[in-house]
Amino acid sequence: MKKPPLIWTNILLFAITFLGAAILVPWYGITYGYGIAEWVAFVALAFASGLSITAGYHRLWSHRTYKSHWSMRLLFALGGALALQNSALHWSSDHRIHHKHVDDNDKDPYSANMGFWYSHIGWMLREYQAQRYHDYKNVRDLQNDKIVMWQHKHYLSLMLIMNIGLPALLGWLNGDIWAMLLMAGLLRLVVVHHCTFFINSLAHIWGKQPYTDKNTARDNGILAVFTYGEGYHNFHHIFENDYRNGIHWWQYDPTKWLINMMAWTGLATQLRVTPQERIERAKLQMQLTRTRNKVEHLANGEEILEKLHDEYELLKTHISDYYQAHKELLDAKRQKLTHNQLMLRVEQLKQDLLMRKRNWKLLTANYA
Ligand SMILES: [Zn+2]
Ligand SMILES: [Zn+2]
Repeated sequence: MKKPPLIWTNILLFAITFLGAAILVPWYGITYGYGIAEWVAFVALAFASGLSITAGYHRLWSHRTYKSHWSMRLLFALGGALALQNSALHWSSDHRIHHKHVDDNDKDPYSANMGFWYSHIGWMLREYQAQRYHDYKNVRDLQNDKIVMWQHKHYLSLMLIMNIGLPALLGWLNGDIWAMLLMAGLLRLVVVHHCTFFINSLAHIWGKQPYTDKNTARDNGILAVFTYGEGYHNFHHIFENDYRNGIHWWQYDPTKWLINMMAWTGLATQLRVTPQERIERAKLQMQLTRTRNKVEHLANGEEILEKLHDEYELLKTHISDYYQAHKELLDAKRQKLTHNQLMLRVEQLKQDLLMRKRNWKLLTANYA
């Protein structure tokens, strides 16, 4: 089969910026040196553009996991132009298809089943799905967002202003335009490009699947560091409407922290979170599947399976009992009703649940 035509604009863009970052940036550093201002600007603009993609393009516009004040949407639109990853409208359209048809080589724009290179960058180098490039049916809601449409219309000029104009201005203020263009412009662009591309490539290849194995998405704490917290991709693909990717306090998710900060200052509202019960049940289901696969072939497999299923059902009941009582307690508190009895019951159920979880852990650990 003939391969689709090459997209030369993208090929040249990626090749020239990559080579420039790999050759020009170190050459200038060795010859003239960089100062602290260039390094600070590099880090600041890397976060500004990266977080505009993750908190803006991804969690706000593609998945609508929260609502945001226009001032933040404007910043995300500018930061998204700085990141040079197409307009928010186009990006979100691609991304919604990615979730809907994940791993489907014909439909998923960056299907991980096509391999690392394709899902990382190859998908942008040829006209693989040209028939839908201008089809924005799946982002009709975003077409009502004036800032999204303004960015889409003026994308080319915004992208030039942000990537050349802004670093040049900073460099002029600091007294070395070329140093700033190379560090805050070029190197920053290439680093952020590949770090965010890792979410489509590596985050579908490398890591654990604690919540679902129905798609290739993985949870990976190391990757989270390079992707502004998007490394918890297995969680994200099953609970895509959650504004968090790293749900535990110890997980590195600066995108979530930014949204939290926006919420504290009133710039973000209606943050959506998945009920904890659903998360626990998904995790439990995966543990059951995994253990089942391991014991099935054992000599006394049937006997173990029976025990496993009994314990699983018991734990499932305990989980729903606990969360049901917990919800009743919250309702009672909200309505200012007396809730001493309820509180005791919740505490008791919590202890029971912890015990069941310990049993489950011991049982499954035997076959891990
Ligand atoms: Zn997503
Ligand atoms: Zn994905």
